Amino acid sequence: MDEADQAQIRIEKEDALTMVKARAPKKAQTKNCMDCGERITEKRRQFVPWATRCMPCQVEHEKERF
Ligand SMILES: [Zn+2]
Repeated sequence: MDEADQAQIRIEKEDALTMVKARAPKKAQTKNCMDCGERITEKRRQFVPWATRCMPCQVEHEKERF
């Protein structure tokens, strides 16, 4: 396998990933926070259509992760 082949495979993988990401928002879209059940604000959903948490819960969630 030469470098061009490897590059091609890499591009195909990235394409697949992009497609998954593009599809994900619709599936994940929700009006209510998955943690506290509060409505996610319209503004936040427009800005982050794949958001599954309200702003305060997202902040908490990210704190836990790091
Ligand atoms: Zn919440």
